[in-house]
Amino acid sequence: MRKTLVAGNWKMYKTPSEARAWFKELLERYPTTPAEAALMVSFPSLPAAQETLSDTVVAYGAQDVSAHVEGAYTGEVSVRMLADVGCKYTVIGHSERRSYHRESDALVAEKARRLLEHGIIPILCVGEPLEVREAGGAVEYTLSQLEGSLEGVEIEEHDQLVIAYEPVWAIGTGRTATPEDAEAMHREIRAWFARRFDLAFANGVRILYGGSVKPDNAAALFAQPNIDGGLVGGASLQVESFIALLQAAP
Ligand code: PEP
Repeated sequence: MRKTLVAGNWKMYKTPSEARAWFKELLERYPTTPAEAALMVSFPSLPAAQETLSDTVVAYGAQDVSAHVEGAYTGEVSVRMLADVGCKYTVIGHSERRSYHRESDALVAEKARRLLEHGIIPILCVGEPLEVREAGGAVEYTLSQLEGSLEGVEIEEHDQLVIAYEPVWAIGTGRTATPEDAEAMHREIRAWFARRFDLAFANGVRILYGGSVKPDNAAALFAQPNIDGGLVGGASLQVESFIALLQAAP
């Protein structure tokens, strides 16, 4: 049984003080839900997350990590730093980093290795741009990204990794994949895991959908058999709508 995960991706929103107040409000209003909640916040907000969310049901993490262990890498943040502030998860390979920072599959695989070495669960993002979908190549593109982003990455247990399928054309655009289209891709991704690892791994690994998930479409998406929750940008910024997403878990 895979537990639904609703992971908010706050991108470059909220100062640490705003984040702290938000976390407190969420904890005060925390709903009855079968889902697990996680907030992926900016680096400066991680100490606020640690102070407020440690030992609660709400997990937290970062939106990126350096591929380097340590050294003269100005502006980078290492995995040891993330582990020290208690990150459970960290997003890697988000399409905004792949496109604005030209991150390759090989670099994402290196980042996955760093996180796994420190027991932080990568939320690894994959997904095709619009022109690829329109040309009928979405599955091939996404699976090849998955293959490249996990090349040489050693994973033993299915709960050491989370995948987020995020079609690029649906992120922040208000356009969502239909539950059926998203489900079809999630099925392909799960089948890929069965080939790469084994059936037990494939059946256990959580695959989130991301791309304009909102309170009014979340329940239909999360009800699909192979969709195990969402990586949510815009709709995770307000406590009210984040709670509604948690309540949309089947
Ligand atoms: C995201 O940030 O990963 C995302 C899916 O954003 P949004 O929900 O705003 O489309």
